[in-house]
Amino acid sequence: MSKLKKIAPFILILVIMLNALSSTNAQNVIEPAIRLRIMETTDLHANMIGFDYEKNKPKIEYGFARTASLIKEARKEEPNTLLFDVGDVLVGNALGEYAYLSHYLNPHDIHPVFKAMNLLNYDAATVGNHEFNYGLDFLQVSLQGANFPYVNANIYIDDHNDFEGDDLNYFNPYIILDRQLTDSNGKKQTLKVGVIGFITPITAEWDKEYFQDKLIVKNIKKTAEHFVPIMKDKGADIIIALAHVGMEADKGLKEQKGNSVFDLSEVEGITAILYGHSHALFPSDDGHIEKGIDHKTGTINGTPAVQAGFWGNHLGIIDLDLIQVDGKWVVKSSQSSVRPIFQTINNNKIPIANEDPDIVKAIMYSHIEALMNK
Ligand SMILES: [Zn+2]
Repeated sequence: MSKLKKIAPFILILVIMLNALSSTNAQNVIEPAIRLRIMETTDLHANMIGFDYEKNKPKIEYGFARTASLIKEARKEEPNTLLFDVGDVLVGNALGEYAYLSHYLNPHDIHPVFKAMNLLNYDAATVGNHEFNYGLDFLQVSLQGANFPYVNANIYIDDHNDFEGDDLNYFNPYIILDRQLTDSNGKKQTLKVGVIGFITPITAEWDKEYFQDKLIVKNIKKTAEHFVPIMKDKGADIIIALAHVGMEADKGLKEQKGNSVFDLSEVEGITAILYGHSHALFPSDDGHIEKGIDHKTGTINGTPAVQAGFWGNHLGIIDLDLIQVDGKWVVKSSQSSVRPIFQTINNNKIPIANEDPDIVKAIMYSHIEALMNK
């Protein structure tokens, strides 16, 4: 028997042992990853179903009832999802008008917009400028009907002094949600999701009647720079900004700098931005890249972002792939997209999503009342 033959079984055992060892090592080095789908609705303007109250006829190109179907579908595709609204929900059509007028008759009724939205398990939302159109009392009473929290960080109570240290927020500026998510190893992970809200300061000018001497709106970027480190200190693993402001600052705004989504995207520590107000789509389907703005992956200055059009015509989605580096969750990659509720073929509008019957049912009474009220 050759020497080699004698030691062969030992070599084999050694190889098996080394293999076993290296595969255990490999298992140890596989850090858990989390795929998180963040969804957005924005600028619904009380369009809970697709209906033109002016022309008195159904419409397929807008309405939350169809967006709701897209939300339910998108949830089936991924185990970890979050849903947010970015404002301008209460005002915009005869349904919103009816809700305002009937509020004096039935002050304890839940606003029809929330009767619908409450069925979708939103994680949080922020207010838009139109939320202020019917005054502060109506706004506060209406928001009580939402079964999800509202945040806004840059509206403050006007205390009539220039000292900022004693300024008080009008809303809860941010919230940190504990969310149980499933990681790539099939294990449960608790992610602390910080959510902060912002509004365009032009709101104070457009609804002067309700803001003058009562409320002030501060610079978006400066407010974010103040709160984001506080949220990090409080343990937020990721921070999602809900911004009711467009890519660019509103024209006519005295202070342009710091009051756009583009500026907000430069703030360190913000993981993703969901925005609205300007009724546009981000990313746009041409996928072009311009200064700091990438329509292919949907990032602004490297920050994942999405804007879902208006009246529920699109669902906004950001898919985040998070990995742990030195015990901290960081974004490895992201992809933003906007999903339409209808498509146009040969000038014909064809629905992609059906109206969710639960949503239609939830608002039908208010819808009929709104029609009779016109
Ligand atoms: Zn708006």
